[in-house]
Amino acid sequence: MKTLKFGGTSVGKPERMQHIARLIIQDPDPKIVVLSALSGTTNTLVDIGENLFEEKVDKAGQLIHDLHDHYMSFIDDLYSQDKFKESAIIAINEHFDFMNGLIAAFFNKRLNNELLAQGELMSTKIFSLYLDEQEIPSKLISALDFMYIDEDKEPDIEFTNDKLSGILYQNKGIGIFVTQGYICRNHEGEIDNLQRGGSDYTATLIGAAINAPEVQIWTDIDGMHNNDPRIVEKTYAISNLSFNEASELAYFGAKILHPSSIWPAQKYNVPVRLKNTMEPDAYGTLISDIEEEKKIKAVAAKDGITAIKIKSSRMLMAYGFLRKIFQIFENYRTPIDMISTSEVAVSLTIDDDSNLKSIMKELKDFGDIVVDDHQTIICIVGNKIVEKEEILQKVFRAMENVPVRMISYGGSRYNISILVDNKFKNETLRELNKHIFNI
Ligand code: ADP
Ligand code: ASP
Ligand code: MG
Repeated sequence: MKTLKFGGTSVGKPERMQHIARLIIQDPDPKIVVLSALSGTTNTLVDIGENLFEEKVDKAGQLIHDLHDHYMSFIDDLYSQDKFKESAIIAINEHFDFMNGLIAAFFNKRLNNELLAQGELMSTKIFSLYLDEQEIPSKLISALDFMYIDEDKEPDIEFTNDKLSGILYQNKGIGIFVTQGYICRNHEGEIDNLQRGGSDYTATLIGAAINAPEVQIWTDIDGMHNNDPRIVEKTYAISNLSFNEASELAYFGAKILHPSSIWPAQKYNVPVRLKNTMEPDAYGTLISDIEEEKKIKAVAAKDGITAIKIKSSRMLMAYGFLRKIFQIFENYRTPIDMISTSEVAVSLTIDDDSNLKSIMKELKDFGDIVVDDHQTIICIVGNKIVEKEEILQKVFRAMENVPVRMISYGGSRYNISILVDNKFKNETLRELNKHIFNI
């Protein structure tokens, strides 16, 4: 059974939703269809939640009201029969009743997570009713019954396999299942999510859990591009990527994929195909275990990075020093992305700065601390690129006018990472495009 995921823009307009219904029936193979919320909905839900936390109830109420209008006109345009319009209005109004009820409630993190789940719960109900109207046999299944994250927010593929196999077995003979991306339950049984952009992760987790022959991620662009198309003018789609290359790109900022979405596919060797909903015949990008020749494939950038330098002439070379420093980050469950050392200092980067104050307090025992925020990691990715002689030359030529804060080379065979101040990000991406890809 294949897994097909459609992102927010692919379901964001009634005609797009009608289009994907046609797309999924073109391929006769059985499938699980994973949907995101309609484009813009999750951003609005985040906004509503922030207003509720700040007790700005009028603003929250207005946002809910406007969102409701949007859904009512969406429903009106999507279905042709009154019977289906009415059913959809009843179903969607239940979600808006819940949202309006939050205005008088004591708002907290648990309710906020429930609020954030409304987008995917609504898009899948709307789509499933549309399939009914088109007389396309399908079954809506709830991701809350089989997607689970533990205390460390790690998904459990075995659990998903167990629960989902049972659900599929009970519904033998059905060829199209529809479910929500992004949402899950946590170890306390509460509604939670896989972080922003998490529907990609849902798709690969399901693909891994059911050992799908392929996971397809349908979006608004024809595959993974060699550079960020929002910033660099001339970019092109890459036909083939290895799991290693794709996971580096996803982790280091290529927005087309959720940062963690590749590991489940890699672990269970499920190929992932990136496809453009508006250009279904374009090849897209195939991500698989095939490693091609040594070649630079793409450049990506990850923002919101904080660099921390610990200077200590006395202790740095002592054995055990780095372990003690790393232990502090581990205690605060804060992953480190880049590291570089010298005789007197060690620099490292983090992207989760929620515990920075406490980390700094403990680090002060080890030396002087310098913190630079608003940093960006620029990541250059390709199979065995560190073995290709002229690559560093090209990279340094591209970086001629950009102050480099840190560089990491040789950490893996697939990636060279450079840390720059965020204000140099766009220029760096454009210069790398010129020097590395000659465009
Ligand atoms: P969806 O809503 O379908 O999940 P996203 O907006 O999350 O879609 O991801 C697709 C977008 O990712 C593209 O429209 C593009 O602007 C952006 N993007 C950033 N970097 C890349 C890249 N290297 N290749 C392709 N798209 C990228
Ligand atoms: N709707 C969620 C978001 O906007 C998940 C997703 O689209 O992948 O982040
Ligand atoms: Mg996305």
